Amino acid sequence: MGWETSFRLSKAASQLGAEEAFVYLARSLELKRRGVDVVSFGIGQPDFQPPPHVISEAKKAMDEGFNGYGPSLGMPELREAIASFVSEEYGVDVKAEEVAVTVGAKSAIFMAMISLLEPGDEVIIPDPSYPLYESVARFAGAKPVFLRLHRGNGYKVTFEEVEKLVTPKTRMIVLNYPENPVGTTMDQRDVEELVDFSAKRGIVVLSDEIYDHFVYEKKHFSTLQTSSWRDAVYYVNGFSKTFGMTGWRLGYVISNKELISKLSVVANNIYSCPVTFEQIAAAKALKEGLSWFKPILEGYRKRRDLIYREFLSIKGVKVVKPEGAFYIFPDFTEVIREKGLKNERELADRLLEERGVVVLPGTAFPKEGGKGHLRFSFAVSENDIVRGIARIKEWIES
Ligand code: PMP
Repeated sequence: MGWETSFRLSKAASQLGAEEAFVYLARSLELKRRGVDVVSFGIGQPDFQPPPHVISEAKKAMDEGFNGYGPSLGMPELREAIASFVSEEYGVDVKAEEVAVTVGAKSAIFMAMISLLEPGDEVIIPDPSYPLYESVARFAGAKPVFLRLHRGNGYKVTFEEVEKLVTPKTRMIVLNYPENPVGTTMDQRDVEELVDFSAKRGIVVLSDEIYDHFVYEKKHFSTLQTSSWRDAVYYVNGFSKTFGMTGWRLGYVISNKELISKLSVVANNIYSCPVTFEQIAAAKALKEGLSWFKPILEGYRKRRDLIYREFLSIKGVKVVKPEGAFYIFPDFTEVIREKGLKNERELADRLLEERGVVVLPGTAFPKEGGKGHLRFSFAVSENDIVRGIARIKEWIES
């Protein structure tokens, strides 16, 4: 019969979507290898290294023998450090038993969906949004219900818009703020009403707040600051973005302690435990605080202002100023029409092939809401922003 029969994918696995940022990353690396001068606004990865005290602590922990298995929910030192850090940041009272350390925020999201969703459950997901939410919801047999975001109201998620989509089958509402890819955040009133509403209805709010420190206008208001979070919220965060530790694969969940304790079995079945020596270093990272991050955030604010101004100066491009994260999501519909292109995918392909500029098509996130749009990560130098946008302007005019 051959390998096609032996290795046919399960229905569930066939539902998984590829994260296109990684596809474009591979294409840009290939171009670089061929000697092309590539400017990449593709993958969402901070361009700074973790602080030196974190690196030295990791090396020390390995030397000291932290190389074996650890508890599935993470080492007590780190769970406690996360609880204190988050409590201080948000002015709340999170306990270590309400924290689980995971292998990246991604596995935290995966665990929530495979542990809490039944086939046929509805999951409300913003569109556009990070593609993992739809992919894993489908893997779990659930039905994604998309909440379309609009430029008219700054691509914001509001309580009223979400409420309209709730049915008796709604089991989970996904929030991500600051949002990838649109860069908007949520207002306190909407967060409070949504959590309160969900707690009363027995709906889970999966709140991915991984960009909580990348905010340019006002301080982040977390779902953990609401009064009923312990009844509804599954909070996700991690070390990838704020600490520049994407490759370490360390994330965490904060939720009701009963759920956290049940997740221990799920985590144990998937990966046994998060990497041990990294956790010692991550605890150190939290204890040392974020004073080193302030100048980095200022730099990101300058980049945000620069790239936003650049887009304002391109005819036919409509853009909303990002309030957070490090993404900007301009609407190129008019440019696409004037250049006679099929869609944003052709635009992204042409910019890559003809000018060496990597951008992601809006429909990689993952549906209709991104039509006509491109996503730019501005976690790149100001020089690259200027160079990259100049190439795009020149291509549009050519
Ligand atoms: N959530 C969002 C919204 C993201 O943008 C990303 C990374 N691009 C993740 C989660 C994944 O984070 P991690 O590296 O911790 O798995």
